[in-house]
Amino acid sequence: MSDQTVQDELIASIRTIKDYPKEGILFRDITTLLGNARAFRRAVDALVQPWAGSKVDQVAGIEARGFILGGAVAHQLSAGFAPIRKKCKLPHETVRIAYSLEYGIDEMEMHKDAIRPGEKVIVVDDLIATGGTAEAACKLLKSIGADIVAACFIVDLPDLGGRKKIEDLGVPVRTLVEFPGH
Ligand code: AMP
Repeated sequence: MSDQTVQDELIASIRTIKDYPKEGILFRDITTLLGNARAFRRAVDALVQPWAGSKVDQVAGIEARGFILGGAVAHQLSAGFAPIRKKCKLPHETVRIAYSLEYGIDEMEMHKDAIRPGEKVIVVDDLIATGGTAEAACKLLKSIGADIVAACFIVDLPDLGGRKKIEDLGVPVRTLVEFPGH
């Protein structure tokens, strides 16, 4: 199956909701992709394809859709899974980082001992827009010594420039499909 056919199938499986959560946003809803067994399988296979057979120690998934995809990716790569969560959700000792949202600031955390220094880690989320969320996740992972192999997303919104932000950290970015606008 060609890359183009896979891309077409993934794009067709993603639902777009206009003006959600606020006016002017085209929300790319991947729950329809997750609910489509073939598309879900294809997306996970395509995300991990460059690392099939190579050693990845941990997959770090960003709350919440990154948990669903990251769990499947970790299973596929025979890697562990480390959750990156909104603040105050994790029970053990954590490291925390603040990051900017469109309005205001939020914080994300992970367990200090979730990754051992030098472990090879892949970051997973459903979508990259401005890249602020993934940038914070990569900085958090680097602060505990992770060797980040790549950051992977099903959807890229290239008009918002997130990819460059992550690549500027020295982290390769893998995305499967693009949508214009935001
Ligand atoms: P950003 O930090 O700007 O790259 O935003 C990425 C995060 O926000 C991801 O966790 C996405 O799930 C979510 N997100 C941002 N824009 C959209 C969109 N247009 N549709 C769906 N999710 C989005």
